Amino acid sequence: MTIAFPPLASGRLSSPYGPRERHGVWRHHNGLDISAPEGTEITAVLPGVVVASTENGAPHFGGYGHTVMIEHPAIEGLTSRSWITLYAHQLRQPPVSEGQQVSAGQLIGWVDSTNGRNGEATRFQRGSGSGPHLHFEVKSSARRVGGRAIPGNPGENNVDPRPWLSSLGIVFDSHGRFQRLETAQPSPESAQLAGQRSVVLTAEILAIAERVRSNRSVDSRPSRGPAIAIGVAAVALVGIAAVGHR
Ligand SMILES: [Zn+2]
Repeated sequence: MTIAFPPLASGRLSSPYGPRERHGVWRHHNGLDISAPEGTEITAVLPGVVVASTENGAPHFGGYGHTVMIEHPAIEGLTSRSWITLYAHQLRQPPVSEGQQVSAGQLIGWVDSTNGRNGEATRFQRGSGSGPHLHFEVKSSARRVGGRAIPGNPGENNVDPRPWLSSLGIVFDSHGRFQRLETAQPSPESAQLAGQRSVVLTAEILAIAERVRSNRSVDSRPSRGPAIAIGVAAVALVGIAAVGHR
C-alpha cells in the first residue's frame, strides 16, 4: 500500500502553474513554486526511479539548478498511469543518483535557489523576489525508448501539479500552505478531486493511520512520516464529507 507524500513537510505556494508576468514579459510557468526556508528537506511524492540528478548549471537544465526527476510507475488504486515529478533549485548535489529506486517520502534534496545554466553555478540573487523555493513539476512520461522514460527538456509534457497533488490527497489551504491534520478544510474543488480518490483509499488509509499510531516504526522517518500519513488520511476523509454536502 502506497501513500503519497507532500514534496515538502511545510511550505507556502508562492507561484501557481500557468502564464505569469515577470518584468513586463508573459511566460508559461511549468510548475508550482513553493517557498520554504533554505535547507528544508525535499521528499519524493511517490515511489519511483530517479531519471535525472543534475548539477547546478548542467546542460538541458538551464535555470533549474540542482534538480531531481523521478519516474513513478502506475500504482494500482492511486495513479492510472506513469508520471514524472521534478524538484528544482536545490541547495547542493542531490543525495540520490540516476537509476536509484526511491520510496514515497524519501529524502531527495534540500530547498535553495540555484538556477545555473551553461555550466555556471549561479543562484537567484537576494532581493530579486525569488527567495528559496522548490520549483515542482509534474510531467507525463509517455515518450519512451527501450522501456525508459526520456526526460527531455525539463519543461516538456507538463500538467498543472496542483490538481494532480489533490488527486493524491495533498492539498493547499487558503493561505497556500499544505494541509495539516488540524486545519484540513479542502476547497470544494480540491475536495471533489480528493474525494474521487478517497472512496477507494479511505479504508486502506484508515488502516495505515491506525498502524502508524500503534507502531511508530512503520516509517523510516518516524518523527515526520506518521503525522503526514494521518494528515493525508484526514484530508481524504474531509474530502468525502465535503463532496457529500455539495
Ligand atoms: Zn517555478
